[in-house]
Amino acid sequence: MTEARLVSVIVPVYNEEDSLPHLFPRLLTTLEGLNRPFEMIFINDGSRDESLRMLYSFHRANPKTVRIIDFNGNFGQHMAIMAGFDKARGEIIITLDADLQNPPEEIPKIVQKIDEGHDVVGTVRQNRQDPPFRKMASKMVNSITNRITGLKLSDYGCMLRGYRRDIIEIINKSCETTTFIPALAQKFAVNPVEIPVGHSEREHGTSKYSFFRLIRLNFDLMTGFSLFPLQVVTMMGIAVSLLSFLFGLFLLLRRIIVGPEAEGVFTLLNINFFLMGITMFCVGITGEYIGRIYVEVRKRPRYVIRREWKND
Ligand code: UDP
Ligand code: MG
Repeated sequence: MTEARLVSVIVPVYNEEDSLPHLFPRLLTTLEGLNRPFEMIFINDGSRDESLRMLYSFHRANPKTVRIIDFNGNFGQHMAIMAGFDKARGEIIITLDADLQNPPEEIPKIVQKIDEGHDVVGTVRQNRQDPPFRKMASKMVNSITNRITGLKLSDYGCMLRGYRRDIIEIINKSCETTTFIPALAQKFAVNPVEIPVGHSEREHGTSKYSFFRLIRLNFDLMTGFSLFPLQVVTMMGIAVSLLSFLFGLFLLLRRIIVGPEAEGVFTLLNINFFLMGITMFCVGITGEYIGRIYVEVRKRPRYVIRREWKND
């Protein structure tokens, strides 16, 4: 073994005043137990509660190991982590949610896997404590997403993950605005591994993801890593055209054999609505891509840092 490498832990924080007092001591104890240099980087993602103040006093108490990046608004969990990646100095970089759903005590396991030579350490939540509906939904999403993106991740939702420096550097170069970090890392990983980690219910505060935001996040995942939805649209167009051609042929034959008829107005209406639905759906999917292209070409800053507290 060479000299122990610096470990950076990145924690996005958005209105987590209820969790932070529990997180700090547990995280600190775990990291001190590693017996190697470490730093914690907290990104305050536009919290409107006491979070920043709490982070600041934690920084004051541990000026050498606690750094804070304060965003001037809410840019989302993934952008917060991106900012952390950009500032992290560690050879080993760990991401952790502030809500304690994943115990910080699992960090040594991840560090060990990276020491063993893996470049990305994914995690799979064991006996997940989310509501059954959410578990089922995310199981479905995981398998669909794997199929569509061609990646192999058992658990897209779990953000307690570890990365080696070289992977983070590739991610830092990618500069994507709408992205999904675990998937991005998986794409560049050479020797990834997945380990089971504990998972518990959120005890303090509430989930920061509404149902709608979760759906949006999944669209990011789909469109960011695959053109498959667009190909489905094309296929659907081809199928509908083919069917309508056959239908036309059928009508022509009936016209010749049975003679003129005028019935089935409502059937026609129904078919029409169905096709209109498909068309709108397809325009929507195309729009998802176009919207993301638009966001990327504007090249606005992905996040804005108001202030930073660091250790020099
Ligand atoms: N988070 C953030 N910005 C946001 C939403 C969430 O930085 O806009 C942070 C949040 O503070 C937490 C982590 O991302 O540390 C995960 O959020 P949450 O636990 O609400 O997500 P869930 O576990 O419900 O998927
Ligand atoms: Mg959570």
